[in-house]
Amino acid sequence: MLSEKLQQAINDQINFEFESAQIYVAMAAYCTEQDLDGFANFFLVQAEEERFHAMKFYGYLAEQGGRVTISGTENPKNEYESILEVFNAALDHERKVTKRIYNIMDIALEEREHATKSFLNWFVDEQVEEEATMMGLIKKIERVGENQQGIFMMDEELAKRTFTAPQA
Ligand code: MG
Repeated sequence: MLSEKLQQAINDQINFEFESAQIYVAMAAYCTEQDLDGFANFFLVQAEEERFHAMKFYGYLAEQGGRVTISGTENPKNEYESILEVFNAALDHERKVTKRIYNIMDIALEEREHATKSFLNWFVDEQVEEEATMMGLIKKIERVGENQQGIFMMDEELAKRTFTAPQA
C-alpha cells in the first residue's frame, strides 16, 4: 500500500493533468478564433494526451489499492495576445508539470517505493519530449515572425497531428 503522502501527491497530479487538459482546450479555442485550425488541432490532441496522463495515474493508484479523489480545476486562461504567447505559456506549463513529476519522484525515492519509481520513469521521459515539442514550435514561430505564409504552412503541418494512446 502506498503511503498517504504518496497517494496525496498522485491524486494532486491526476487533478493537475485534468487541469492541463482544460488549459490546452482553452488554447485550442483561442487558435480557432484566429482561424488557425491546425494549431487548434495541435492543442486538442495535447489535451487528449493530458487526459490520458491523468488516467494513467488513476489506473496506477487504483491498482496499488489507493483511493482516487477528483477535485475541481482552476479556470484556465482564455485570452492571449498572439500565437507566440500561447506557446510560451504552454512551455511554462510543461516545465511546471516536470517539476511536479520530479517532486513525486523525490517522495518515491525517499520512501524506497521502487514500483512507483519505475512507473514515474515513463513520465520523466515523456516530459523531456513535451518540453522539446514546445521549444521546437516556439523557435519555428519566432523564425517565421510576422510572415503570414509561414504561419499558414505551420498550421497545415499541425493539422496532421493525431492522438494515439502510447503503449505501456
Ligand atoms: Mg501531462
